[in-house]
Amino acid sequence: MEPLHHESRNTELLATVAHELRNPLAAIQCAVRVLEAPNQSDATLQQARAVISRQVTRIVRISDDLLSAGYIATGELELCKQRVDLHDVVQSAVEACRPQLDAGHHTLMLHLPAAPVEVIVDPIRITQVLTNLLDNAAKYSDPFGSIIVRVEGTRCAVTISVVDRGIGIAPEFLPRVFDLFARSDQSKIRPRAGMGIGLNLVKRLVELHHGTVEACSAGLGMGSTFTVWLPRST
Ligand code: ADP
Repeated sequence: MEPLHHESRNTELLATVAHELRNPLAAIQCAVRVLEAPNQSDATLQQARAVISRQVTRIVRISDDLLSAGYIATGELELCKQRVDLHDVVQSAVEACRPQLDAGHHTLMLHLPAAPVEVIVDPIRITQVLTNLLDNAAKYSDPFGSIIVRVEGTRCAVTISVVDRGIGIAPEFLPRVFDLFARSDQSKIRPRAGMGIGLNLVKRLVELHHGTVEACSAGLGMGSTFTVWLPRST
């Protein structure tokens, strides 16, 4: 990358990160004021605590993604692979996204095989992959959307699909959806527009596991499906 282009990318990244942190911090600031104010009802106090908890989780997620992206860029990310049941990984990702799913009143359907689905992966990283995909499915769906997580296994590999019926992806944007900082015009105006690093991180983490990730959408307004394919062991 040319130095000037590189510099403007860095400036753009800093501005985006600052913007991403500003919204949750502003929400926390408001909630703290509510907690400090006298004579608040129990329901109001509980609501303020829930806001703080949800927004702190969001900040932790942003910093985890930035850290991971940095480690991958410098080749320092080491996978801690172990034999795990994908049921547990999916469960951790769902728990992590529960506040976003509930805030948007989304319905989540899990289609998993009844038997354990064993894979040898780094569970923390694959949870991070699924958390990003689920978080996007919630973020890019209108309230009361329905989201499906489907896990299927063959003898040698597994696929995990996250399906939403949200804003969809325009055909011209689809080939760039995994690029660093790529954000569609439609997503920039969403209430929780992001940094455009999540999907790039997803792709890199999946590739570190010798897997692939694909995005499909029939177009704007037609929902999206992201499918991760992972070998059972690498
Ligand atoms: P962001 O932080 O902007 O969500 P991502 O890297 O996760 O960054 O996603 C990049 C872009 O891909 C988003 O800005 C959005 O335009 C598009 N995108 C990702 N997931 C979806 C989805 N489920 N539905 C529609 N568009 C999506």
